[in-house]
Amino acid sequence: MSVRVRFAPSPTGYLHVGGLRTALYNYLFAKHHGGTFILRIEDTDQTRYVEGSVDDIVSSLEWAGIVPDESPQRGGDYGPYVQSDRTDLYRAYAKELIEKGMGYYAFDTAEELDRMRERQKAAGIAPRYDRSSMRNQFTLGPEETQRLLDLGEPAAVRMKVPITGEVKFHDVIRGNIVVPCKDVDDQILLKSDNFPTYHLANVVDDHTMAITHVIRGEEWLPSTPKHVLLYEGFGWEAPKFAHLPLLLNPDKTKLSKRQGDVATHDYINKGYFQEAFLNFIVLLGWNPSGEREIYSIDELVKEFQLEHVNKAGAVFDLKKLEWMNSQYMKSYVTNNLGYLVEQVQPTLRQRGVTASDEYVGNVVQLLHERITLITELADFGMYMFTDPVIDEEFKASVWKDNSADIIRGILDVIRTLDAENFNHDTVHNAISTYVKDNGMKFKDIGNILRLAVTGKSVGAGMMDTIAILGKDASVYRIERFLNSL
Ligand code: GLU
Repeated sequence: MSVRVRFAPSPTGYLHVGGLRTALYNYLFAKHHGGTFILRIEDTDQTRYVEGSVDDIVSSLEWAGIVPDESPQRGGDYGPYVQSDRTDLYRAYAKELIEKGMGYYAFDTAEELDRMRERQKAAGIAPRYDRSSMRNQFTLGPEETQRLLDLGEPAAVRMKVPITGEVKFHDVIRGNIVVPCKDVDDQILLKSDNFPTYHLANVVDDHTMAITHVIRGEEWLPSTPKHVLLYEGFGWEAPKFAHLPLLLNPDKTKLSKRQGDVATHDYINKGYFQEAFLNFIVLLGWNPSGEREIYSIDELVKEFQLEHVNKAGAVFDLKKLEWMNSQYMKSYVTNNLGYLVEQVQPTLRQRGVTASDEYVGNVVQLLHERITLITELADFGMYMFTDPVIDEEFKASVWKDNSADIIRGILDVIRTLDAENFNHDTVHNAISTYVKDNGMKFKDIGNILRLAVTGKSVGAGMMDTIAILGKDASVYRIERFLNSL
């Protein structure tokens, strides 16, 4: 049987990084087995619907390259599966469950249910639907039930959970799980407004969409016994289950917005590399064998196994993400400088800077170790593209009486160099000869030369900086600086 998996987010907000991980694991698992990955929007709870969230989910997944293998036609368009398109199906199945004796009508009002919970609270028992004392098919009898239905009395459909016995299932990550039936509530499956709850729609869809593996977050583990009972009630074979570990803040509490960004689009907008971000996300809970940490998507597809997913929560460590991003930065500098240039050019254009791809590539090479995100290059490295702005505080801290003479001396040396053969070594040799001939050390000129050429106290090595600027620009900058004194 070929593998079919789904990512089934509810459109209640942006795509959370935990959701991205769930989607990624489903996607990798499908690809590893040559199977099918689908996207299903679970929007049965209309009260929690947030405008724009489907677009955010779809576009974040697209950015990540996690594209569904099936896109059903919806109206004139194609898109993910959407549960609100399928409500007739859930109603039909709710009816089937009643016919099979595994579901029943219940007519309780919200007030009646509140009173029931209060009674239970007062008696110190866990709040659960009390089938024997409430207004439902069993306490009212078949005739009264039919009469109320004919009258159009609001009725929910509940699941008939056995009073005794156990629900057993196997979780690929967590092993065998056994839950006593007495701990499972008679869950509402179809609300009195005829809309299904998550549980019914989820099980009906997973079955009718022939899902073989349900891979989802740990928070859904408590729902699984209900789902298993539903599969049994319908007489369907349940898919295999795998519940992924929680994502945690560094202090081991559940990952929360209060301690950092949790929306995938925040990381996209900041400019993390897609490959670095996915590589970081995949390691949150999945441990391949050995020490290796850097994996391309193709390698992940090859290596990914659900059996290697941990039970324990995984810490979302921003430092690790930054490290991962710089690893990718280094490798792009060597193997795909063009990709970096492509990302930097628009950020320069936004700031009104026009520069050749070749020059931008040189600046990226020069500065990449000093930034974490490629989007920082335009700000951090602006001094390589526009006339330097002098940091007066820096100037005051390094300037001496003879500084202007030294800078003039270096300017003369640079003027003598061949513009066609102007590189780190030629610049370095000429300036060190000058330094030696004048009985100085490099440290005597380093800061003031940096001040004259870049205006700033921090940056890359000066010889490389001058070499990349080129002879004309270096001469121009130093002259401009001297004129400003
Ligand atoms: N709709 C659920 C969610 O928002 C999906 C749970 C599942 O995958 O079964 O996460």
